Amino acid sequence: MIRLSADRDACRGAGQCAFHAPDLFDQDEEEGLVVLLHDEPADDRLPSARRAVAACPNRAITLTAS
Ligand code: SF4
Repeated sequence: MIRLSADRDACRGAGQCAFHAPDLFDQDEEEGLVVLLHDEPADDRLPSARRAVAACPNRAITLTAS
């Protein structure tokens, strides 16, 4: 199982994650910080999850195998 996590303390609200994977990430309305929508992305969502990880300027998103 691949798990997705997002560190809101590291997030600066740039929004690249929601741009690259809008089905996996959103941003809150107050500060624009990341909101993780699914922590166990389906296999067909992994490419967009990896694009979001690569695009995050603060390395706030991680994908880990469990
Ligand atoms: S791309 Fe990174 S810094 Fe930007 S909103 Fe998403 S988690 Fe936060």
